[in-house]
Amino acid sequence: MKNIGQKTAVQGRHTEFTGDGRFRFLCHSKLECFNRCCRDINIFLSPYDVLRMSRKLGLSTSEFLERYTTRLQARGTGFPVVLIKMRDDADLICPFVTGQGCAIYDERPWSCRMAPVEIRGNNRYGFAFDSDHCRGLLEDTEWTVGDWMKNQGNEGYQELESGFEEIPAGLQMTGLPSLDRHIMEMFFMACYDLDKFRRYVFDGSFIKIFDIPPETVTKIKNNDLELLKFGFRWLVSGFDLRKSITVRDEVFGN
Ligand code: SF4
Ligand code: SF4
Repeated sequence: MKNIGQKTAVQGRHTEFTGDGRFRFLCHSKLECFNRCCRDINIFLSPYDVLRMSRKLGLSTSEFLERYTTRLQARGTGFPVVLIKMRDDADLICPFVTGQGCAIYDERPWSCRMAPVEIRGNNRYGFAFDSDHCRGLLEDTEWTVGDWMKNQGNEGYQELESGFEEIPAGLQMTGLPSLDRHIMEMFFMACYDLDKFRRYVFDGSFIKIFDIPPETVTKIKNNDLELLKFGFRWLVSGFDLRKSITVRDEVFGN
């Protein structure tokens, strides 16, 4: 590991530090690189990102996904992932960038909040950029990863998205291509397209099939975050009827 506590060390992609190690960084509009990192970059969006960004823009999640994102399949798992669709111009600029910075700064995605820090696993962190590209790495303000995440408002994500991370391991695939495609569509809807999922839950037969406590029904009807967390649980439990979200007896004619 590099000792980046020494002011002379040049920080960049080669640098690594642990969670309680310190790094130096400050991003501000006077830097020559201001906005340079908001182009030609893969910004993956989490379910919470999609929800926050769509609400900030006054769009439904379906409209937001259609207008501003690209959907790909994760290598290995095949699960859908969502990225910001960069503008179709020579510089591939993020659609949210303005001369004054990010137009959705308060609700910018998790990875934009973390930048330039990247997670490398096992309590190891590094930088996504070199200092010749990201001049903020030459500034003197010191942080630990914890300080940085707090400063950037990243704390809510962990609690909310712990259920999301469990889905790939918990969601049972059948091995039947058409059924598995359907499960992937359900995954995409419940995780990313929350407004569509709300209609699926409340406008169809969902509530008649699944035995959901009335207080939960009220909560998920009126609260986006509760619905999102419910969706995560349903994806893991709903396809395995032995688990916590059960089917009503009437469905089986009992
Ligand atoms: S969402 Fe905002 S911070 Fe993130 S790349 Fe786009 S303009 Fe930059
Ligand atoms: S390149 Fe680095 S310092 Fe420059 S605007 Fe982006 S994050 Fe900030």
